[in-house]
Amino acid sequence: PSAMREVMVQKPNVRWEDVGGLDDAQERLREGVELPLKNPDAFRRLGIRPAKGFLLYGPPGTGKTLLAKAVAREAEANFIATKSSDLLSKWYGESEQQIARLFARARQVAPTVIFIDELDSLVPARGGGMGEPQVTERVVNTILAEMDGLEELQSVVVIGATNRPNLIDPALLRPGRLDELIYVPVPNEVGRRRILDIHTARMPLADDVDLDSIARRTDRFTGADLEDLVRRAGLFALRQGIDTPNVNARHFEQALEDTRPSVTPEIER
Ligand code: ATP
Repeated sequence: PSAMREVMVQKPNVRWEDVGGLDDAQERLREGVELPLKNPDAFRRLGIRPAKGFLLYGPPGTGKTLLAKAVAREAEANFIATKSSDLLSKWYGESEQQIARLFARARQVAPTVIFIDELDSLVPARGGGMGEPQVTERVVNTILAEMDGLEELQSVVVIGATNRPNLIDPALLRPGRLDELIYVPVPNEVGRRRILDIHTARMPLADDVDLDSIARRTDRFTGADLEDLVRRAGLFALRQGIDTPNVNARHFEQALEDTRPSVTPEIER
């Protein structure tokens, strides 16, 4: 029974304005990915080699996948998402084949952003990962060979993501590979305010809803936590009656009682 997966090419519809509180990360991706993918000739003319690989690292739910989708969309590139557990096959040779197909497809539909999530699980089981040592080593080597084979300006960029950068195989981080490290932090109050705006954009809010105050009171909430908070507030409004016209401050209070930040101080950098 083969576990070979079809390589799915997406055209994400996430825009920069859908990402809140990650200005630094966004700026680095604009310069490092969007600019070269959109202006390869200018880079060629000036003899600049753009990076082939980026590593987004930070706590879960802070927007790493969202950023990767947004940069693909803004660069008018295709997007292929995978995660390392999809690449780990116990069938001999199948991982290599899957990775080869992934990169072949990416080249075929270039410009392309390849997103590889859960990169930290590409370490042997002993190191906290999920794979058998020989399999993970072969997967890492195959990815490295494919990346080494990417010509500069071939318009395929690899973006990896992890919650635990210290577990990443150092070979993946060497120059010419995933050598641009970008931290994706838990948002501060200003970032949280922006994220609340994004996720309430299509929600009718009562006048008593004070998003500034909610932003102030949600220390350590990630973007995913805030999205969840807003969704719960909406559900409390619905629960009050199917024809409730809007979501009010009390619904948000109820949601706040229900929601805890998923990031504890220990796992925050
Ligand atoms: P993981 O490490 O678990 O894969 P991640 O960092 O990739 O998490 P995302 O999958 O991008 O997190 O975030 C989940 C959802 O949370 C997003 O689809 C989005 O709706 C919301 N979200 C997270 N971060 C942000 C943000 N900075 N701005 C707006 N929405 C966000």
